[in-house]
Amino acid sequence: MGKFDDLRKDFPMLERQVNNKPFIYLNSAATTLKPRQVVEAMDTYYYTYGGTINRGVDSVGYEATLAYEAVRTQVAEFIGAKDPNTIVFTRGTTTSINMIASSFGELIIEAGDEIVVCLSEHHANYIPWQQLAKRKGAKLILAPLNDFGGVTPEGLQSVLSAKTKIVGLHHISNVLGSHNDVKRLAELTHEVGAYFVVDGAQGIVHEAVDVTDMDCDFYAFSAHKMVGPTGVGVLYGKAELLAKMPPTEFGGEMNHIVDIYDTSFKDAPHKFEAGTMMIAEVIGMGAAISYIEAIGIQAIHDHVSALREYAVEQLKQVANIEIYNEHNHSSGIITYNHIGIHPHDAATVYDREGISMRSGHHCAQPLLTWLHQPATLRMSLYLYNNKADVDQWIVAAKQADSFLD
Ligand code: PLP
Repeated sequence: MGKFDDLRKDFPMLERQVNNKPFIYLNSAATTLKPRQVVEAMDTYYYTYGGTINRGVDSVGYEATLAYEAVRTQVAEFIGAKDPNTIVFTRGTTTSINMIASSFGELIIEAGDEIVVCLSEHHANYIPWQQLAKRKGAKLILAPLNDFGGVTPEGLQSVLSAKTKIVGLHHISNVLGSHNDVKRLAELTHEVGAYFVVDGAQGIVHEAVDVTDMDCDFYAFSAHKMVGPTGVGVLYGKAELLAKMPPTEFGGEMNHIVDIYDTSFKDAPHKFEAGTMMIAEVIGMGAAISYIEAIGIQAIHDHVSALREYAVEQLKQVANIEIYNEHNHSSGIITYNHIGIHPHDAATVYDREGISMRSGHHCAQPLLTWLHQPATLRMSLYLYNNKADVDQWIVAAKQADSFLD
């Protein structure tokens, strides 16, 4: 048994049945399965030192504070950030990007300014900028997409100008798996004096990230897409930008002195972490990072992309299939349709075979418009998938083709 097959035992959900069939999980771009190690780390917090953090002087609370803050350092090292104080814990990518738009965006955007996004953004990296532009009388500018659904340096350059203030783009797309050269895109953005925001929700999963080398201004991601718990994620921001940004939420623990008519706030990251935080989930995220690092992110990438190449070749043998991202191997995502069959109908056939995958617009409606499709199927692979999963998926694909044709 290979190393990756051996890891399957860490994921108890793979032992269950769905519709009386062995469960096959092909929906990791939506959320990944969780290994025992992550759940156990959260259990240990709740069962042995489950106090609240950064408050009072009790020993248990102090232990919890140390564990929580240790994850901040761990995340900083994981993404190549020099200073743990540039790591803000949030509810996930969506919250992180909304925080940037409603704090930093509100601060710097004026009427007539331009904010650049592209049509293949997840709604989480589209709507916050669209709404900020609307509020401020700024313009939302679309960088052209290349054939893979990404943005090339030349494409970005064609829309940058002295009016550009923020560029918000994905690292890896959640629908087409397109991979943007975010380092080069950040460089071009800085040449016109604008700020570069990366939606890293999928990028963090499939390659080693170094925000210092990338020189992005902000990088956002969620733990649940990288074997961590739901409800927790990260906003990385350059220290000097976080220092300028006002908090977007107010309450306990984010302040120094609360006077009757004014309040002085703590420095970043604490001024952004109001109220009781998701302590167990932060600790679970730390366990997820340890889990991934023990395997090696490059090894995971190689496993997933080899499996994807195999899956694409198999899918091409099935009749009446249209694949929208044949060549984007690094994401583990295959987005396709059975020609003439609505993806929700097709997905019910897959589900009957015990296969969980996504059908719909994948929270990327502008991209679906670009693809001229109301919806698609999306299968997505991760470290616990193997060839047997792909073979079973192909059996279901053939059934969908013959039943629904
Ligand atoms: N951006 C991308 C590219 C995603 O794939 C997702 C999740 O599907 C998000 C943003 C939003 O992530 P979350 O729902 O964890 O906030």
